[in-house]
Amino acid sequence: MSERTALMAGNWKMHLTTAKAAELAQEVGRGSSDDQGVEVMVAPPFTALAAVSQAIQGLPVKLGAQNLYPAPEGAYTGEISAPMLADLGVTYVILGHSERRHVLGESDSFIRDKVAAAREGGLIPVLCCGELLEDREAGQTMEVIQTQLEQGLKDIPLENSSNLVLAYEPVWAIGTGKTATPELAQEVHGRIREWLAGRYNKDLAKGVRILYGGSVKGSNVKALMAEADIDGALVGGASLTGEAFLPIVRYRL
Ligand code: PEP
Repeated sequence: MSERTALMAGNWKMHLTTAKAAELAQEVGRGSSDDQGVEVMVAPPFTALAAVSQAIQGLPVKLGAQNLYPAPEGAYTGEISAPMLADLGVTYVILGHSERRHVLGESDSFIRDKVAAAREGGLIPVLCCGELLEDREAGQTMEVIQTQLEQGLKDIPLENSSNLVLAYEPVWAIGTGKTATPELAQEVHGRIREWLAGRYNKDLAKGVRILYGGSVKGSNVKALMAEADIDGALVGGASLTGEAFLPIVRYRL
């Protein structure tokens, strides 16, 4: 466990219509409390952002988005910008998720532009990185992650460690029920923090939160959070009901 404030983030992906999303957000908010030293974030689909933003008024839950387009406005049919998200009360935006990299074909440079746009729009990027099973089997895990981070943060200044969150999500552990062992996850998180110290400086590296994602649930969150460089979780499947997500949020109780 670290001195950084833990962040438990729910990525709802392409699930939940507005009423269900608002209801779940309230359930999560009512079940969370400010005094556990755990920050909670939910990232509904774009269609539910406004309803969830309303629903969590006064509750200890932050709003996240799952994507943005790297321009403030313009002729980009179907896209959503950082200022539009900020206008809805969004604080965090998930970028570089493996589904966008591998299903939608997003490149490191496109992701980098999104990170820059998020910062310019006053949002905190949650930049995801992670290796495929074949990368791990070929002994390429750290090379892959380092490239994703180097490219994704290219020429992005970091004045304050709270302006960036990273998420390590081994692709073979996402939605598969296979979780990286806490030791394996810690090894990568530790290397990421070392990389951050070299890329920025030691103080910033110490403050940046690095989340783990990949089949996190109530039964494995404590062991993961006991590791020195794991500062929270990015949760997919288990964030879709209060019953599954609240034990993660309340892992300290
Ligand atoms: C994710 O999509 O970021 C994720 C970690 O999903 P799951 O928790 O379902 O593995």
